[in-house]
Parts: sequence; C-alpha cells; structure tokens
Amino acid sequence: MKKKKILVTGGAGFLGSHLCERLLNDGHEVICLDNFFTGSKKNILHLMDNPFFEVIRHDITMPFFIEVDEIYNLACPASPIHYQFNPIKTIKTSVSGSINMLGLAKRIKAKILQASTSEVYGDPQVHPQTEDYWGHVNPIGSRACYDEGKRCAEALFVNYKKQNNVRIKIARIFNTYGPRMDPEDGRVVSNFIMQALKGEDITIYGTGEQSRSFCYVDDMIEGLIRLMNTDDSFTGPVNLGNPNEMTMLDLASLVKDLSGSGSGISYNELPEDDPMQRQPDISLAKKTLSWEPSTILREGLKRTIDYFKNLQEEV
Ligand code: NAD
Ligand code: UDP
Repeated sequence: MKKKKILVTGGAGFLGSHLCERLLNDGHEVICLDNFFTGSKKNILHLMDNPFFEVIRHDITMPFFIEVDEIYNLACPASPIHYQFNPIKTIKTSVSGSINMLGLAKRIKAKILQASTSEVYGDPQVHPQTEDYWGHVNPIGSRACYDEGKRCAEALFVNYKKQNNVRIKIARIFNTYGPRMDPEDGRVVSNFIMQALKGEDITIYGTGEQSRSFCYVDDMIEGLIRLMNTDDSFTGPVNLGNPNEMTMLDLASLVKDLSGSGSGISYNELPEDDPMQRQPDISLAKKTLSWEPSTILREGLKRTIDYFKNLQEEV
C-alpha cells in the first residue's frame, strides 16, 4: 500500500482524532488542522510523538495551502449547543471552509471527502432515510445554521466535481458515539452517561419517544476510509450509520442499566425542530463499500461509559 500524505480538518475533534489515529496506524502521514473550537489537544496527545503526525492551528474559513494526496473535511462543530453558539460562524465553516478546502483540492489535485450529516434530511418524512430523499429542513430555524450549511457544502462539492472535475466523496454521517466525545457537548449519549455516572436525573427532552440510530466510532471511521478509497466514479452521497433505531427513553434505560446507576428521569422541553425519527438506509454503503457496522450498542456504550468514568477519575 502506498504511503499517503493526508490532511484531516477538525482532526482534534471526536471523529477527527480517531481518524488521525487510524490513518497513522495504517502507515500514512497525517496533518491535523484544527482551530480548537470544540476539539482538544487532549484528544491527540497520544499521537504527538509520532514523527508522521503534524498539528496545525488554523481556521478553515481562511485559505490554507499545503501539498497532500487526500483531504478529509471534518471541521465543523457537531453538537447542537456548539453549532448554535455562533450560528454565523457555523455557516461560514461549512460554506467558506468548504470553498477553501475544495479550492485547495482543485489546485493540488487531491481527493476530498466531506463529512456531511443525516441533518440534511431535517425532520424526515421518509423513513428510513435513503440518499435520494431531499429532506425536510426548516431554513430559518435554530438548526438551520448547521443543516443548511451542510446542504450548501454538498452543493459546493458536487459542483466542484462538475465544473472542475475535483475528486469528491460525500458521507452522510448519522449519530455517532464513543470515547473522546466531549462530556459537556450536550449530545444525548454524553449527557445520559455523565448524568448516570453522577447519579443525577437523566434529562429526556420532550416525551422521549423520538428516535435516533447510534453508530460506534470505530465502525464510522472504517466507513469513511472505505469511502475515500472507492474509485473516482463513486462520489456519494452515501449514508453511514447504524440502522439500529431506538427511542431516547430506551437509550436512557440502557445507559442506566449498563452503568449500574440509580438516576431518575426528568422531562424537559423539546428543542425547536428536533427531528422525530432518524434511521439510515445503508443499502448503498453495503453495496459500494462492502461496509456495515459491527459493534452492537451495548458493547459500544460499555466502552464509552468506561471512557467517561476514567475522565471523572482524572479530575
Ligand atoms: P467535534 O466538534 O468533536 O469536531 C469538530 C472539530 O472541528 C473540532 O476539533 C473543532 O475544533 C474543529 N473545527 C470547528 N470549526 C472549525 C474551523 N472553522 N476551522 C478549523 N477547525 C474547526 O465533532 P465531531 O463529532 O467529531 O464531528 C466531526 C464532523 O463530522 C463534523 O463535520 C460533523 O458535522 C460531522 N458529523 C458528526 C456526527 C456525529 O454524530 N459525531 C454526525 C454527523 C456529522
Ligand atoms: N436529547 C435528550 N436529552 C438530552 C440530550 C438530547 O432527550 O440530554 C434528545 C434530543 O432532543 C434529540 C436526541 O436526544 O431528540 C438526540 O440529540 P443529540 O443532540 O445527541 O443529536 P441530534 O438531535 O443532532 O441527533
């Protein structure tokens, strides 16, 4: 296998740090670019001694020049509280950031993969979601900065392919969890585990009957790498996620059970435009990438709970 030089934007984040680690383990040279908005040096500390790993503090909304073979564009806050903290910046990251990275890919003839999201389907009226569904997104709601930013990024990617023949790949990532999630990021898996470990009430938003489908991080990273390695005629978009759908109420009781917690449940207001259901149809990924997730939720959650327990012991 040829040793490649690979740029990972958002490389100090949750998914990015796992991707950098995996690519280094596969024998590649990795440049991690991050502005450390939601990412952390702690996530990549264990990679710092590797001479084939480089970290650059940079914001992708500003142009950036480097010579690489491949670019994974992951830079963008992913949790609702983080992407809604500065919505204009979130839009700029997806739109100006993608333009900068696509311009770079065009100039250096690199392959480029976009970390898109199931949020392009909004609050979906088609279930499970297939790639040919156009979505149901509120363009002026509180999730729009993320959803519409990512939709525009997809449009940019396909048009850089059409107009400039840039070699693109688009992954529509569904809810992913695992070690190195930020315990404070407000996402459901991190919230529930932290609450269970602290013996605090588990906060269900709305009735808890809304569903999500959770994919373990290692499975997701495998899917992203397989997508990058498809031949140039395959661009996606392709759904990556675990079709194992469940309600937030069921997730709460599973987390309580696995962490041996006596936490109660408290009901809070449902955030605006919170999607009611979400489940990936992964037929395309199975067919084109020979990929499907292999980590069952109980096992993935156990590993994630252990990670959060260790974090608590460190402080
Ligand atoms: P994360 O917040 O942990 O990581 C994002 C990283 O990007 C962070 O390190 C952050 O500092 C960096 N970043 C943000 N804005 C930047 C900018 N302007 N310039 C440079 N760096 C910047 O989130 P994550 O869960 O690792 O998600 C990674 C990518 O995958 C994101 O693009 C996200 O939209 C996408 N995604 C994730 C999920 C999920 O469930 N984790 C689901 C769908 C899509
Ligand atoms: N959620 C919840 N309690 C929490 C955090 C989230 O019930 O403490 C719900 C949230 O309303 C949503 C689901 O869990 O229906 C997933 O939320 P998350 O922010 O993890 O991801 P997203 O909504 O982007 O899929």
